[in-house]
Amino acid sequence: MFIHKTNFLMRAFYPDFIWKMSENQKVIYLTFDDGPIPEVTEFVLEQLDIYQAKATFFCIGENIVKNPQIFDQLLKAEHSIGNHTYNHVRGWDVEDNFYVENFKKCQGVIPDSTLFRPPYGRIKKNQAKPILETHKIVMWDVLSGDYSLDISPENVLKKSIQHTENGSIVLFHDSKKAEKNLRFTLPKFLKHFTENGYQFAQL
Ligand SMILES: [Zn+2]
Repeated sequence: MFIHKTNFLMRAFYPDFIWKMSENQKVIYLTFDDGPIPEVTEFVLEQLDIYQAKATFFCIGENIVKNPQIFDQLLKAEHSIGNHTYNHVRGWDVEDNFYVENFKKCQGVIPDSTLFRPPYGRIKKNQAKPILETHKIVMWDVLSGDYSLDISPENVLKKSIQHTENGSIVLFHDSKKAEKNLRFTLPKFLKHFTENGYQFAQL
């Protein structure tokens, strides 16, 4: 079974991270990880535009360097940009120093960003500590599962809608792997919550 809701133990272990926003308003915080890339990121931008939705993109540094025009479109549309390391590094697998250097290398191409999301949600406390001095570390409370090839697009949509509530931070991916599920889910997700009086804001 795919777990769509973040585990409370994880939240308790990392209380300094942001898992969810205020529950007092009908606002949803969409986040898109792993871009910017051609076609998929452009598709996301078009969909957000239709619903006048703002979102946050956690970009991989090397993708920004490879796709500068698409990155410019993100900036022009005034979405928020977050650091997602330069090479999509999994914190649990590497030395602390290597991790922080890779974070800094990404920051070199997005100097204004003050948001960070660890790839795979895997980061050691000693890696997070120096990053927290300058950045908010943003996790999520709803995992769409869009990147999983084991879930049908219908189920990604159904579960994402079911678990999203006021203040939710919802994780999607503008990646090739997630493309099929994302193309099915995102337009319907935006439509559903817009019709129910929700707004979509950036972090
Ligand atoms: Zn990622």
